[in-house]
Amino acid sequence: MYDSIANNINTVRSTLPANVTLVCVSKYHSAEDIQTAYNCGERDFAESRAQELLPKALNLPADIRWHFIGHLQTNKVRQILPYVSLIQSVDSLRLLEAINKEAQRIQRRVDILLEVHVAAEQSKTGFDLNDLPNDFTAYPFVNVRGIMGMATNTDNQDEIRRCFRLIASVAQHLNINNPIISMGMSDDYQIAISEGATMVRLGSTIFNTK
Ligand SMILES: *Cc1c(COP(=O)(O)O)cnc(C)c1O
Repeated sequence: MYDSIANNINTVRSTLPANVTLVCVSKYHSAEDIQTAYNCGERDFAESRAQELLPKALNLPADIRWHFIGHLQTNKVRQILPYVSLIQSVDSLRLLEAINKEAQRIQRRVDILLEVHVAAEQSKTGFDLNDLPNDFTAYPFVNVRGIMGMATNTDNQDEIRRCFRLIASVAQHLNINNPIISMGMSDDYQIAISEGATMVRLGSTIFNTK
């Protein structure tokens, strides 16, 4: 039997260290379910598609902090920028440049995370470690707050741990004070926390899709 969203949130909260931010991944879930989580006190929600984020952002409470976690096309930057509080999935210089340009246009500094690719699957997005930028002076309207990454989709705990360790070590090399280290999803967030995650992104564990 499914637990309620409120029970799921309480269970997750009881296992999270105080320094770890819970982001509820609400992609594919209804505004009603998001409102339920909101009523439990959650304020951080993540979407992966612009066309899903916009109607939700317009219809749900204005103090929700919306995170963007999907592959973002440069031509969608303008649509989402007014609503988003942290773009976690910046995976190319081209996108960084597009965000900077649009942020300048609306005169707003935008928080972002650089997405790194460390998983075994080639299909996953993100910067290769060797291509990760570390000089952001050309992007004054972009505030690089840290790193986001995903582990290989596998049951092999050692491989998952290897990925998270790598992501956390990259964050330490970015030259940012207290970098946000966004890693860990429903199946692997305990390992991510033990490897230094400061933000976890949980969808199915919160919204009962398993
Ligand atoms: C969907 C998604 C999540 C949440 O995954 P769950 O397994 O449902 O917790 C986290 N991060 C990203 C980037 C996602 O696309």
